[in-house]
Amino acid sequence: MQKAVLTFAEDGTPCSSEFGDSYFSKGEGPAETRFVFLEQNELPQRFSALQQQQNFTIAETGFGTGLNFLLAWQLFNEVAPQGARLTFVSCEKFPIERAELQAIHQQWPELAELSKQLLSQYPPSLGGYHPLVFGNVTLLLMYGDACSQYSQLAATVDAWFLDGFSPALNPDMWQPELFQHIRRLSRIGTTAATFTAARIVKDGLLGAGFKLTRSKGYGRKRHKLRGDFIGLCGPSYVGGWPCSEMPIAEPNRAKNIAIIGAGIAGISTALELTKRGYRVTVFEKNQTVASGGSGNLQGAVYAKLSAKINDATQFYAQALIQAQHILATLPNEVAHQACGLVQLANSDSELKKLQAFDSSDDIPRELAEPKTAQELSELTGIEVEHPGLWFADGGWLSPSELIRYLVKEFQLQVKTATEITEITQQENGWQLSDANRNSYQFDQLVLCNGFDAKKHPHTQHLPVKPIAGQVTYLQETSTSAALKAVICTDRYVMPTHNQQLIIGSTFRVKTENSELKPEDNAENINALHQRLPQLNIAAQQAIGGRAGIRCTSPDYLPIVGAVSEPDWLHRQFTIAVQRKQTDRLPAAETVNGLWLNIAHGSKGLCSAHYTAKILAALISGEPLPIQAELLNKLNPNRFEVRAMLRGKRVKH
Ligand code: SAM
Repeated sequence: MQKAVLTFAEDGTPCSSEFGDSYFSKGEGPAETRFVFLEQNELPQRFSALQQQQNFTIAETGFGTGLNFLLAWQLFNEVAPQGARLTFVSCEKFPIERAELQAIHQQWPELAELSKQLLSQYPPSLGGYHPLVFGNVTLLLMYGDACSQYSQLAATVDAWFLDGFSPALNPDMWQPELFQHIRRLSRIGTTAATFTAARIVKDGLLGAGFKLTRSKGYGRKRHKLRGDFIGLCGPSYVGGWPCSEMPIAEPNRAKNIAIIGAGIAGISTALELTKRGYRVTVFEKNQTVASGGSGNLQGAVYAKLSAKINDATQFYAQALIQAQHILATLPNEVAHQACGLVQLANSDSELKKLQAFDSSDDIPRELAEPKTAQELSELTGIEVEHPGLWFADGGWLSPSELIRYLVKEFQLQVKTATEITEITQQENGWQLSDANRNSYQFDQLVLCNGFDAKKHPHTQHLPVKPIAGQVTYLQETSTSAALKAVICTDRYVMPTHNQQLIIGSTFRVKTENSELKPEDNAENINALHQRLPQLNIAAQQAIGGRAGIRCTSPDYLPIVGAVSEPDWLHRQFTIAVQRKQTDRLPAAETVNGLWLNIAHGSKGLCSAHYTAKILAALISGEPLPIQAELLNKLNPNRFEVRAMLRGKRVKH
């Protein structure tokens, strides 16, 4: 992405070299924002009239310095009732560098605290969606061109801030296509405000279904404009058959939700739903939380990225940026180290993949940067023989301690030692029965139980696979104690913790057996020794280990969203083929109130907190923090749909 190139007026007001326009009126930014955007949209009144847990969505066209966001957030904090939520969606094609942003914010001491919080999460310039969470306020920052980013948004917007540079200097932004998306995302009651009454803006808003009111503009500006949406509402997102996501439906507000599975996916989902006021109970068949794949003492916060963006890299890079922020802000009671992480290129094919980073800037260097063997030897504290990709903000954390911490801190309700053996759909929800014949009633149900999801009738068709993996514990030595960063190849090793070195992991596909095997420890030691001889572990004996089962999907992306009956999908597809309408998807009929968040493989520490936010947004009707087309790639129905498009059905 291209960064903003700024010049500054004498009073410190930033001006864009690209567009030759200033970000706000000289020296009067906050007063102008309040006058044009906050007051025209009547935000003081609308914020204070919000209900508990109600979400208000603002969408803006140019993030710039973030001043509009900071002031909307400040106002929300002042007048909104406790428990209300604000989602501020904004878009930026030319992000300002963090250091410059920090310098600009210094002119507003009253915003210092909010600015500090914003800067602590200000994302690297990876094109795409970045949800930043500040308590009840979420900033969904979309990096890229306004038209293309808004084309992927599924949301209902309450108030628009139309804030590009002046239409004369930046006509590219005020395109008819942008106004089509404004229409698509608006409802009766939606308002729009802008600092200009230029023809292109007036025509655009009128065409998008807004009634306009023009009034005296700020300072020397002649006019400002307010719009009230009176148009026809369309579906908020429409996809074709290759995708399978429902248009964002009326949110299901039923409040009582059961989650099956107390691993990282289940607990993250419970947390996100609890924050939104749902009453959540997590059921776990084992005696304790974090007893399955998420129970390891150390886990790397990591995902493998390709130099060129594809679906998996886009999803995992967005997830990783958020996971690294969580890692950076963990309390001491969760063992962790944001120590950096390297993906070593120790084979010809890995080397080729690494070299591709030299000619691509899809992945920002702040996120991952190629380094030489010598540089990596210094960064890791161990002599390595290969170059690799360095994730400066990567590291490791203890998944089991993280899960226990979240349960305690947010008082999540977990029923351990309770195996749900049967789930039955009822008229108004779900009945769950456990192995002791107790039954429970819930409005909605989220399956976060990995491969066990196949045991339930509505989800048994999903083509997920179990993968057994074993990690090995070794006694710390003076050599391994020197290791300062996580090193990943097809095996991995983490800095020692409590005098133990943890190495991993074996990878046994289609195995449900989670017994600890001495030969797997030997395999881990051998394999890692070959890849990192300087670690000098060949002669060591394992002092322990842990085996677990992970669940993966055929395309190695998680499975997130509502599930449809395969037969229903098939009937609809047959009709669509007959009508030659396979480019249009009927509104999906989902198994009402049944949701999935599974198949994270070994990447749950990177992905599960993100999919939990996505799922909570789907359930509550908040703006989705992921591009609509990318969400389709996670949809539980994707395997059925792809198989039908290839003229086959998935074998169940
Ligand atoms: N709201 C901002 C604030 O609070 O500082 C000021 C916005 S400034 C007037 C306009 C912003 O729109 C600039 O940051 C500019 O880089 C961005 N922009 C211009 N063209 C764009 C486009 N096509 N897509 C997305 N952002 C764009």
